[in-house]
Amino acid sequence: MDIYSVTKENLSKYFIDMGLKSYKATQVFEWLYSKRVKSFDEMTNIKKEVIEKLKEDYYFGKIEIKEKQTGKDTSKYLFKLEDGNFIEAVLMMHDYGVSVCVSSQIGCNMGCSFCESGRLKKVRNLTAGEIVEQILAIEEDIKRRIDSIVIMGIGEPFDNYENVTDFMRIINDPKGVAIGARHITVSTSGIVPKIKEFAAFPLQINLAVSLHAPNDELRSKIMKINKAYNIKEVMDAIDYYSKKTNRRVTIEYLLLKGVNDTKECANELVNLLKGKNVYVNLIPYNETSHIEYKRSDDKTKMEFYDIVRKSGITITIRKKFGGGIDAACGQLRAKEVEK
Ligand code: SAH
Ligand code: SF4
Repeated sequence: MDIYSVTKENLSKYFIDMGLKSYKATQVFEWLYSKRVKSFDEMTNIKKEVIEKLKEDYYFGKIEIKEKQTGKDTSKYLFKLEDGNFIEAVLMMHDYGVSVCVSSQIGCNMGCSFCESGRLKKVRNLTAGEIVEQILAIEEDIKRRIDSIVIMGIGEPFDNYENVTDFMRIINDPKGVAIGARHITVSTSGIVPKIKEFAAFPLQINLAVSLHAPNDELRSKIMKINKAYNIKEVMDAIDYYSKKTNRRVTIEYLLLKGVNDTKECANELVNLLKGKNVYVNLIPYNETSHIEYKRSDDKTKMEFYDIVRKSGITITIRKKFGGGIDAACGQLRAKEVEK
Protein backbone atom coordinates (compact mmCIF):
# COMPACT_ATOMS: atom_id res chain seq x y z
CA MET A 1 0.00 0.00 0.00
CA ASP A 2 1.04 3.58 -0.69
CA ILE A 3 2.27 5.03 2.63
CA TYR A 4 0.49 8.32 1.78
CA SER A 5 -2.85 6.45 1.78
CA VAL A 6 -2.59 5.50 5.45
CA THR A 7 -4.24 7.49 8.22
CA LYS A 8 -2.32 7.91 11.44
CA GLU A 9 -4.94 5.87 13.24
CA ASN A 10 -4.49 2.91 10.88
CA LEU A 11 -0.74 3.20 11.08
CA SER A 12 -1.00 3.12 14.89
CA LYS A 13 -3.06 -0.08 14.64
CA TYR A 14 -0.44 -1.54 12.32
CA PHE A 15 2.30 -0.90 14.87
CA ILE A 16 0.20 -2.19 17.78
CA ASP A 17 -0.52 -5.39 15.81
CA MET A 18 3.24 -5.79 15.44
CA GLY A 19 3.58 -5.51 19.22
CA LEU A 20 5.07 -2.03 18.98
CA LYS A 21 4.03 1.28 20.53
CA SER A 22 1.46 3.36 18.68
CA TYR A 23 3.60 6.53 18.88
CA LYS A 24 5.72 5.02 16.07
CA ALA A 25 2.90 6.17 13.79
CA THR A 26 3.42 9.74 14.96
CA GLN A 27 7.13 9.43 14.24
CA VAL A 28 6.49 8.13 10.73
CA PHE A 29 3.96 10.92 10.12
CA GLU A 30 6.52 13.51 11.21
CA TRP A 31 9.04 12.13 8.74
CA LEU A 32 6.49 12.06 5.96
CA TYR A 33 4.75 15.36 6.48
CA SER A 34 7.01 17.63 8.54
CA LYS A 35 10.39 16.59 7.23
CA ARG A 36 9.01 15.36 3.91
CA VAL A 37 11.47 12.50 3.46
CA LYS A 38 11.03 10.31 0.40
CA SER A 39 12.27 6.96 1.73
CA PHE A 40 12.02 4.82 4.87
CA ASP A 41 15.81 4.75 5.18
CA GLU A 42 15.81 8.44 6.09
CA MET A 43 13.64 7.79 9.17
CA THR A 44 16.66 7.63 11.44
CA ASN A 45 14.91 7.37 14.81
CA ILE A 46 13.15 4.15 13.79
CA LYS A 47 14.80 0.77 14.32
CA LYS A 48 16.25 -1.11 11.35
CA GLU A 49 13.89 -4.12 11.75
CA VAL A 50 10.89 -1.82 11.78
CA ILE A 51 12.15 0.01 8.69
CA GLU A 52 12.53 -3.33 6.91
CA LYS A 53 8.98 -4.32 7.85
CA LEU A 54 7.65 -0.95 6.66
CA LYS A 55 9.44 -1.44 3.35
CA GLU A 56 7.75 -4.84 2.93
CA ASP A 57 4.28 -3.48 3.54
CA TYR A 58 4.37 0.04 2.12
CA TYR A 59 5.83 1.99 -0.77
CA PHE A 60 6.20 5.69 -1.50
CA GLY A 61 3.64 6.65 -4.11
CA LYS A 62 4.80 9.19 -6.65
CA ILE A 63 2.95 11.50 -8.94
CA GLU A 64 4.80 13.50 -11.51
CA ILE A 65 4.09 17.02 -12.71
CA LYS A 66 3.58 16.51 -16.44
CA GLU A 67 2.59 20.06 -17.29
CA LYS A 68 2.00 23.32 -15.50
CA GLN A 69 0.06 26.27 -16.91
CA THR A 70 0.40 29.51 -15.03
CA GLY A 71 -1.92 32.49 -15.28
CA LYS A 72 -2.20 35.67 -13.24
CA ASP A 73 -3.47 34.19 -10.00
CA THR A 74 -3.71 30.51 -10.90
CA SER A 75 -1.52 27.57 -11.77
CA LYS A 76 -2.94 24.45 -13.21
CA TYR A 77 -1.08 21.17 -12.80
CA LEU A 78 -1.41 18.10 -14.95
CA PHE A 79 -0.12 15.09 -13.02
CA LYS A 80 0.90 11.74 -14.38
CA LEU A 81 0.09 8.85 -12.05
CA GLU A 82 2.19 5.73 -11.69
CA ASP A 83 -0.18 3.73 -13.91
CA GLY A 84 0.05 6.34 -16.69
CA ASN A 85 -3.28 8.05 -16.01
CA PHE A 86 -3.60 11.83 -15.82
CA ILE A 87 -5.34 14.08 -13.30
CA GLU A 88 -5.37 17.78 -12.53
CA ALA A 89 -5.10 20.10 -9.59
CA VAL A 90 -5.36 23.88 -9.47
CA LEU A 91 -3.48 26.32 -7.26
CA MET A 92 -5.19 29.64 -6.58
CA MET A 93 -3.66 32.73 -4.99
CA HIS A 94 -6.05 34.69 -2.79
CA ASP A 95 -5.44 37.80 -0.72
CA TYR A 96 -5.67 35.61 2.35
CA GLY A 97 -3.44 32.74 1.22
CA VAL A 98 -3.21 29.94 -1.29
CA SER A 99 -5.72 27.23 -1.94
CA VAL A 100 -5.58 24.06 -3.99
CA CYS A 101 -8.38 22.27 -5.79
CA VAL A 102 -7.73 18.52 -5.93
CA SER A 103 -9.14 15.72 -8.07
CA SER A 104 -10.74 12.68 -6.44
CA GLN A 105 -11.27 10.33 -9.39
CA ILE A 106 -9.85 9.75 -12.87
CA GLY A 107 -12.81 11.01 -14.89
CA CYS A 108 -16.37 11.09 -13.55
CA ASN A 109 -19.48 9.00 -14.18
CA MET A 110 -22.04 11.57 -13.09
CA GLY A 111 -22.26 12.95 -16.61
CA CYS A 112 -23.28 16.55 -15.95
CA SER A 113 -23.85 18.03 -19.40
CA PHE A 114 -21.78 21.18 -18.82
CA CYS A 115 -18.73 19.49 -17.32
CA GLU A 116 -15.48 18.74 -19.07
CA SER A 117 -14.33 16.36 -16.30
CA GLY A 118 -17.36 14.18 -16.83
CA ARG A 119 -17.01 14.10 -20.62
CA LEU A 120 -14.48 11.32 -20.10
CA LYS A 121 -15.88 8.44 -18.06
CA LYS A 122 -14.39 7.32 -14.79
CA VAL A 123 -11.34 5.09 -15.15
CA ARG A 124 -10.97 4.46 -11.42
CA ASN A 125 -11.04 6.10 -8.02
CA LEU A 126 -7.94 7.86 -6.78
CA THR A 127 -6.37 6.37 -3.67
CA ALA A 128 -6.17 8.60 -0.60
CA GLY A 129 -2.42 8.77 -1.25
CA GLU A 130 -2.87 10.04 -4.78
CA ILE A 131 -5.00 12.88 -3.44
CA VAL A 132 -2.49 13.66 -0.66
CA GLU A 133 0.36 13.61 -3.19
CA GLN A 134 -1.31 16.37 -5.25
CA ILE A 135 -0.92 18.61 -2.20
CA LEU A 136 2.63 17.49 -1.42
CA ALA A 137 3.77 17.95 -5.02
CA ILE A 138 2.34 21.46 -5.23
CA GLU A 139 3.80 22.49 -1.85
CA GLU A 140 7.17 21.22 -3.03
CA ASP A 141 6.81 23.06 -6.33
CA ILE A 142 5.87 26.43 -4.81
CA LYS A 143 8.02 25.99 -1.70
CA ARG A 144 5.33 27.04 0.71
CA ARG A 145 2.45 25.57 2.67
CA ILE A 146 -1.07 25.52 1.33
CA ASP A 147 -3.71 27.25 3.45
CA SER A 148 -6.91 25.69 2.21
CA ILE A 149 -8.16 22.83 0.09
CA VAL A 150 -11.26 22.29 -2.00
CA ILE A 151 -12.15 18.85 -3.30
CA MET A 152 -13.70 20.15 -6.49
CA GLY A 153 -11.40 18.86 -9.21
CA ILE A 154 -12.07 15.92 -11.49
CA GLY A 155 -14.46 13.36 -10.03
CA GLU A 156 -17.33 12.98 -7.62
CA PRO A 157 -15.76 12.76 -4.14
CA PHE A 158 -18.77 11.00 -2.58
CA ASP A 159 -18.50 8.29 -5.25
CA ASN A 160 -15.08 7.60 -3.65
CA TYR A 161 -16.15 8.15 -0.06
CA GLU A 162 -13.67 5.97 1.85
CA ASN A 163 -10.55 7.27 0.13
CA VAL A 164 -11.72 10.88 0.22
CA THR A 165 -12.49 10.75 3.95
CA ASP A 166 -9.10 9.09 4.61
CA PHE A 167 -7.52 11.91 2.61
CA MET A 168 -9.32 14.42 4.87
CA ARG A 169 -8.04 12.65 7.99
CA ILE A 170 -4.47 12.61 6.71
CA ILE A 171 -4.29 16.25 5.62
CA ASN A 172 -6.13 17.43 8.72
CA ASP A 173 -3.95 15.49 11.15
CA PRO A 174 -1.77 17.86 13.20
CA LYS A 175 1.14 15.51 12.47
CA GLY A 176 0.05 15.23 8.84
CA VAL A 177 -0.28 18.16 6.47
CA ALA A 178 -2.08 19.96 9.35
CA ILE A 179 -4.71 21.85 7.41
CA GLY A 180 -7.61 22.87 9.64
CA ALA A 181 -10.93 21.17 8.90
CA ARG A 182 -12.58 24.56 8.44
CA HIS A 183 -10.11 25.18 5.62
CA ILE A 184 -11.21 22.06 3.76
CA THR A 185 -14.30 21.98 1.53
CA VAL A 186 -15.80 19.03 -0.28
CA SER A 187 -18.25 19.48 -3.13
CA THR A 188 -20.77 16.85 -4.19
CA SER A 189 -23.22 16.69 -7.05
CA GLY A 190 -25.76 15.44 -4.51
CA ILE A 191 -25.22 11.78 -3.59
CA VAL A 192 -27.94 11.75 -0.94
CA PRO A 193 -26.93 8.71 1.18
CA LYS A 194 -23.37 9.99 1.40
CA ILE A 195 -24.45 13.49 2.44
CA LYS A 196 -26.30 11.82 5.32
CA GLU A 197 -23.33 9.61 6.15
CA PHE A 198 -21.04 12.63 6.08
CA ALA A 199 -23.18 14.24 8.79
CA ALA A 200 -21.57 11.76 11.20
CA PHE A 201 -18.02 12.36 9.99
CA PRO A 202 -16.04 13.66 12.98
CA LEU A 203 -14.14 16.53 11.32
CA GLN A 204 -15.68 19.98 10.78
CA ILE A 205 -15.19 19.97 7.00
CA ASN A 206 -17.25 22.39 4.87
CA LEU A 207 -19.84 20.82 2.61
CA ALA A 208 -20.89 22.28 -0.74
CA VAL A 209 -23.65 20.84 -2.91
CA SER A 210 -23.89 21.48 -6.65
CA LEU A 211 -27.53 22.36 -7.18
CA HIS A 212 -27.35 24.41 -10.40
CA ALA A 213 -31.12 24.46 -10.96
CA PRO A 214 -34.18 25.28 -8.85
CA ASN A 215 -36.54 22.60 -10.23
CA ASP A 216 -36.33 18.94 -11.20
CA GLU A 217 -37.18 19.42 -14.85
CA LEU A 218 -34.25 21.74 -15.42
CA ARG A 219 -31.86 19.96 -13.07
CA SER A 220 -32.52 16.58 -14.71
CA LYS A 221 -31.67 18.12 -18.07
CA ILE A 222 -28.22 19.28 -17.00
CA MET A 223 -27.40 16.79 -14.21
CA LYS A 224 -28.19 13.10 -14.76
CA ILE A 225 -27.74 12.45 -11.04
CA ASN A 226 -31.05 14.29 -10.44
CA LYS A 227 -32.87 11.25 -11.83
CA ALA A 228 -31.40 9.19 -8.99
CA TYR A 229 -31.71 11.84 -6.24
CA ASN A 230 -34.11 14.66 -6.97
CA ILE A 231 -34.10 18.16 -5.51
CA LYS A 232 -36.47 17.31 -2.65
CA GLU A 233 -34.26 14.41 -1.58
CA VAL A 234 -31.14 16.56 -1.85
CA MET A 235 -32.72 19.38 0.19
CA ASP A 236 -33.90 16.88 2.83
CA ALA A 237 -30.35 15.49 3.07
CA ILE A 238 -29.00 19.04 3.45
CA ASP A 239 -31.52 19.76 6.22
CA TYR A 240 -30.55 16.54 7.96
CA TYR A 241 -26.85 17.37 7.63
CA SER A 242 -27.17 20.93 8.91
CA LYS A 243 -29.36 19.90 11.86
CA LYS A 244 -26.98 17.13 12.83
CA THR A 245 -23.78 19.17 12.44
CA ASN A 246 -25.03 22.68 13.04
CA ARG A 247 -23.12 23.75 9.97
CA ARG A 248 -24.22 25.84 7.04
CA VAL A 249 -24.12 24.18 3.65
CA THR A 250 -22.95 25.98 0.52
CA ILE A 251 -25.30 25.71 -2.44
CA GLU A 252 -23.29 25.98 -5.63
CA TYR A 253 -25.15 27.47 -8.56
CA LEU A 254 -23.40 27.50 -11.90
CA LEU A 255 -24.81 30.16 -14.23
CA LEU A 256 -25.36 28.87 -17.76
CA LYS A 257 -26.46 31.47 -20.27
CA GLY A 258 -30.13 31.16 -21.20
CA VAL A 259 -30.46 27.87 -19.32
CA ASN A 260 -30.73 28.50 -15.58
CA ASP A 261 -29.89 32.20 -15.22
CA THR A 262 -33.33 33.81 -15.64
CA LYS A 263 -35.15 35.92 -13.04
CA GLU A 264 -37.74 33.15 -12.78
CA CYS A 265 -34.98 30.72 -11.84
CA ALA A 266 -33.65 33.17 -9.25
CA ASN A 267 -37.10 33.55 -7.67
CA GLU A 268 -37.65 29.80 -7.71
CA LEU A 269 -34.28 29.33 -6.03
CA VAL A 270 -35.27 31.80 -3.32
CA ASN A 271 -38.48 29.86 -2.63
CA LEU A 272 -36.57 26.62 -2.47
CA LEU A 273 -33.90 27.87 -0.07
CA LYS A 274 -35.79 30.31 2.17
CA GLY A 275 -35.41 29.49 5.83
CA LYS A 276 -32.74 26.87 5.25
CA ASN A 277 -29.29 26.88 6.82
CA VAL A 278 -27.50 27.48 3.53
CA TYR A 279 -25.77 30.12 1.54
CA VAL A 280 -25.38 30.41 -2.19
CA ASN A 281 -22.22 30.60 -4.22
CA LEU A 282 -22.84 31.72 -7.79
CA ILE A 283 -20.29 30.25 -10.18
CA PRO A 284 -19.43 31.87 -13.51
CA TYR A 285 -19.14 29.17 -16.17
CA ASN A 286 -15.73 28.36 -17.65
CA GLU A 287 -16.44 27.72 -21.31
CA THR A 288 -14.76 24.83 -23.10
CA SER A 289 -14.52 24.11 -26.79
CA HIS A 290 -16.32 20.76 -26.59
CA ILE A 291 -19.44 21.91 -24.81
CA GLU A 292 -22.03 24.36 -26.16
CA TYR A 293 -22.94 26.21 -22.95
CA LYS A 294 -21.95 29.85 -22.57
CA ARG A 295 -21.15 31.99 -19.56
CA SER A 296 -23.99 34.30 -18.49
CA ASP A 297 -23.27 37.96 -19.11
CA ASP A 298 -22.48 40.20 -16.15
CA LYS A 299 -25.83 42.01 -16.19
CA THR A 300 -27.80 38.76 -15.97
CA LYS A 301 -25.50 37.53 -13.26
CA MET A 302 -25.97 40.67 -11.19
CA GLU A 303 -29.76 40.57 -11.60
CA PHE A 304 -29.77 36.97 -10.40
CA TYR A 305 -27.49 37.89 -7.51
CA ASP A 306 -29.70 40.85 -6.45
CA ILE A 307 -32.90 38.78 -6.39
CA VAL A 308 -31.34 36.22 -4.08
CA ARG A 309 -29.57 38.77 -1.90
CA LYS A 310 -32.70 40.91 -1.44
CA SER A 311 -34.57 37.84 -0.20
CA GLY A 312 -32.18 37.74 2.76
CA ILE A 313 -30.27 34.65 1.66
CA THR A 314 -26.51 35.09 1.86
CA ILE A 315 -24.97 34.91 -1.58
CA THR A 316 -21.48 35.36 -2.98
CA ILE A 317 -20.09 35.26 -6.50
CA ARG A 318 -17.11 33.03 -7.04
CA LYS A 319 -14.08 34.94 -8.19
CA LYS A 320 -13.02 34.01 -11.70
CA PHE A 321 -9.72 32.20 -11.72
CA GLY A 322 -7.61 30.95 -14.51
CA GLY A 323 -7.81 33.76 -17.07
CA GLY A 324 -5.60 32.83 -20.00
CA ILE A 325 -5.30 29.14 -19.16
CA ASP A 326 -7.52 26.08 -19.68
CA ALA A 327 -9.51 26.87 -16.58
CA ALA A 328 -12.40 24.43 -16.87
CA CYS A 329 -11.52 21.47 -14.75
CA GLY A 330 -10.81 18.40 -16.86
CA GLN A 331 -9.59 20.33 -19.88
CA LEU A 332 -5.90 19.57 -19.43
CA ARG A 333 -6.57 15.91 -18.82
CA ALA A 334 -8.94 15.68 -21.79
CA LYS A 335 -6.34 17.28 -24.06
CA GLU A 336 -3.66 14.89 -22.89
CA VAL A 337 -5.89 11.81 -23.24
CA GLU A 338 -7.10 12.85 -26.66
CA LYS A 339 -3.54 13.38 -27.89
N1 SAH B 1 -18.24 16.33 -8.62
C1 SAH B 1 -18.36 17.33 -7.62
C2 SAH B 1 -17.06 18.08 -7.41
C3 SAH B 1 -16.27 18.42 -8.63
S1 SAH B 1 -17.01 19.59 -9.73
C4 SAH B 1 -19.49 18.29 -7.94
O1 SAH B 1 -20.04 18.20 -9.04
O2 SAH B 1 -19.86 19.07 -7.07
C5 SAH B 1 -16.87 21.09 -8.77
C6 SAH B 1 -17.79 22.21 -9.20
O3 SAH B 1 -17.39 22.73 -10.48
C7 SAH B 1 -19.23 21.76 -9.36
O4 SAH B 1 -20.10 22.68 -8.77
C8 SAH B 1 -19.38 21.75 -10.86
O5 SAH B 1 -20.72 21.85 -11.27
C9 SAH B 1 -18.54 22.91 -11.28
N2 SAH B 1 -18.17 22.93 -12.70
C10 SAH B 1 -18.09 21.90 -13.56
N3 SAH B 1 -17.71 22.33 -14.78
C11 SAH B 1 -17.55 23.67 -14.69
C12 SAH B 1 -17.17 24.70 -15.62
N4 SAH B 1 -16.85 24.41 -16.86
N5 SAH B 1 -17.12 25.97 -15.16
C13 SAH B 1 -17.38 26.26 -13.87
N6 SAH B 1 -17.74 25.34 -12.95
C14 SAH B 1 -17.83 24.06 -13.35
FE1 SF4 C 1 -18.72 14.89 -12.18
FE2 SF4 C 1 -18.92 17.13 -10.72
FE3 SF4 C 1 -18.36 17.22 -13.35
FE4 SF4 C 1 -20.79 16.53 -12.57
S1 SF4 C 1 -19.79 18.52 -12.25
S2 SF4 C 1 -19.58 15.48 -14.16
S3 SF4 C 1 -20.34 15.37 -10.73
S4 SF4 C 1 -17.09 16.34 -11.76
